[in-house]
Amino acid sequence: MHIKDLCTICDHWTITNIVHDKDTATFTCTHCKNEFDLPWDTNTRFLIRSIRHSLKKRMKKHPELAALKNEGDAIKVENSES
Ligand SMILES: [Zn+2]
Repeated sequence: MHIKDLCTICDHWTITNIVHDKDTATFTCTHCKNEFDLPWDTNTRFLIRSIRHSLKKRMKKHPELAALKNEGDAIKVENSES
């Protein structure tokens, strides 16, 4: 699945690709290809849901994030803390 998220390695908003098997979810920044793993459990599913939820607020403030559509897209947002 894809989520829009801020990558802490390249400091860009990007499409993050998430693949998971029963045990492990691998998050990959499609811009800088940084990867990290989390256990695929209720905490991780909750994390993904809350990322999606907070994105709605972020997009009100930064409508340019709507332009993120394809793997590899990246947008640098100044002062992205909210
Ligand atoms: Zn990145």
